[in-house]
Amino acid sequence: MPKPATQDSNEQSSAFRSFIAEKGLRATRQRMAVFEAAQGLTGHYTAEDLLKKAKGLDRTVSRATIYRALPLLKGSGIIREVDVGRDHKYYLTESGIATFRAQLICESCEEIIEVDAPFMEWYGKAVAAKHGMRPISQKLQVTAICERCQKRKPLRP
Ligand SMILES: [Zn+2]
Repeated sequence: MPKPATQDSNEQSSAFRSFIAEKGLRATRQRMAVFEAAQGLTGHYTAEDLLKKAKGLDRTVSRATIYRALPLLKGSGIIREVDVGRDHKYYLTESGIATFRAQLICESCEEIIEVDAPFMEWYGKAVAAKHGMRPISQKLQVTAICERCQKRKPLRP
């Protein structure tokens, strides 16, 4: 279900608070600091980046706070986990527009570019339906070499 594009941070905040309440948890100062930090980050970031940002808002936020808050942020749709098959996962704060995304990942510098790929969602559904299957999830990731890295490291002949 597509969310309205105008979803502001207040709506996100109440969505997060009610999700936490449903889980029988409290919206502690630390949890809300992690939420605020996620709202303040743009592009792809790691759990460590989130920790650094959240610590700047509330010094009592610990690494454990972050790792306990991540499933809450993911579950409430505030952030999305992007696994590019590395040791560390990346996270992306949702803009409020729910479209299927594909990722282009530079193999060399790990730069990640998110692209809208609504056709992929349709394609996945169509292909699955042909085989009488109902899709649960799908992802499209293209590993590539970015322009900057191509200049830095010429491809072997
Ligand atoms: Zn690169």
